[in-house]
Amino acid sequence: SKGAAMVTAVAYRLADQRRQITETLAEFRLTNDQLLEVKKRMRTEIQNGLGKKTHDNATVKMWPTYVRSTPDGSEKGDFLALDLGGTNFRVLLVKIRSGKRRTVEMHNKIYAIPMEVMQGTGEELFDHIVQCISDFLDYMGMKNTRLPLGFTFSFPCRQTSLDAGILVTWTKGFKATDCEGEDVVGLLREGIKRREFDLDVVAVVNDTVGTMMTCAYEEATCEVGLIAGTGSNACYMEEMRNIETVEGDVGRMCVNMEWGAFGDNGCLDDIRTEYDRAVDDLSLNPGKQRYEKMCSGMYLGEIVRNILIDLTKRGFLFRGQISETLKTRGIFETKFLSQIESDRLALLQVRSILQQLGLDSTCDDSIIVKEVCGTVSHRAAQLCGAGMAAVVDKIRENRGLDQMDITVGVDGTLYKLHPHFSGIMHQTVKELAPKCNVTFFLSEDGSGKGAALITAVGCRMREQEES
Ligand code: BGC
Ligand code: MG
Repeated sequence: SKGAAMVTAVAYRLADQRRQITETLAEFRLTNDQLLEVKKRMRTEIQNGLGKKTHDNATVKMWPTYVRSTPDGSEKGDFLALDLGGTNFRVLLVKIRSGKRRTVEMHNKIYAIPMEVMQGTGEELFDHIVQCISDFLDYMGMKNTRLPLGFTFSFPCRQTSLDAGILVTWTKGFKATDCEGEDVVGLLREGIKRREFDLDVVAVVNDTVGTMMTCAYEEATCEVGLIAGTGSNACYMEEMRNIETVEGDVGRMCVNMEWGAFGDNGCLDDIRTEYDRAVDDLSLNPGKQRYEKMCSGMYLGEIVRNILIDLTKRGFLFRGQISETLKTRGIFETKFLSQIESDRLALLQVRSILQQLGLDSTCDDSIIVKEVCGTVSHRAAQLCGAGMAAVVDKIRENRGLDQMDITVGVDGTLYKLHPHFSGIMHQTVKELAPKCNVTFFLSEDGSGKGAALITAVGCRMREQEES
């Protein structure tokens, strides 16, 4: 009959639609061999970053940090810390007590950095930062104290000492002019001078390094730091003899890998999808930080949005209507993705989240949106795990061990908020680096505590040099 034919036609159309959606998402499903290949390529790039002759053209830069040991518990004093480059900008006061009862007491205040400051001139940015420090000191009633300060600056820096770091390139949402190629400690000191007060900037610290140090303060086996947040990056204790860009062969130094730039030479092109390319093309830094753009919180939502736009264009979603909201960059923040993917959430709630974002969805739409989010974050976690597997295996080989126990200190909104990211990442490391027994240790507030610990070590080194 005619009715039956219509039902068959609808069923056929739905099955075809399902097939096409599955096919689109299949590009994001990586096989075990592909992940092993990613691990291998990361290892090659690590080698290139460390080598004297290969460093200049390397994408993964393996910057030395001048942090030569993890904390030993004797660190003490009061410190200021600045945290720039994560989800929030903060100023902190950190009080470290050593001895039998080691304690770390922290006070902090979050400040907004308006978009026009993030993307204005460097002078405006640093004036704003110094203004916030000054407000914080007022707020704490410590206007006239001259405390040592650790500057957690979570961007790629070429460090030449603990307190000098030349910004190589902005990443994430920053684009302030006249900063790239400059020493950010110098820029901060100039900003402080303009306000006519005095602070002692002792260390510039990457957030991965702060995270590793914070974790190592509690757990001596921690020699790796990982951030899976707005951005993505890792650091670890490398043998001095392998760091050919720094004089000396004795002992270890922490290297800030800047692995976000992995793939910038095209070595991940075979696994990048058209959606990854779209996200990259529309970003503030096209062609740069390609691995980060597949792994980190700032971009996962953008990948999702680009897939949703495509599926809508093809008539599979939102009744084929691309709303203004869907055209808006940055709508799917990590916290939304995390909510949408929560297992406890009924589909109705997914719809209500989409509603809050201004996306009118049917029940079928919300199923598809959830599937898209899940696929994109699954790949992110696996890719991050493949990178980490390369790191821990390198450390194991450095030490000539067949089997190794190691702890990784981790922080970042994606790691902390997302319901599945951490589990999938851990699993991937386990599968890809079976000779390493890796413990992940959530190490909150590395950007504050870790910066203070490094500043403490910096002060101690300075006293030793002076005496
Ligand atoms: C930066 C790194 C930082 C990471 C995590 C990246 O965009 O280049 O320096 O560690 O984000 O915040
Ligand atoms: Mg942070």
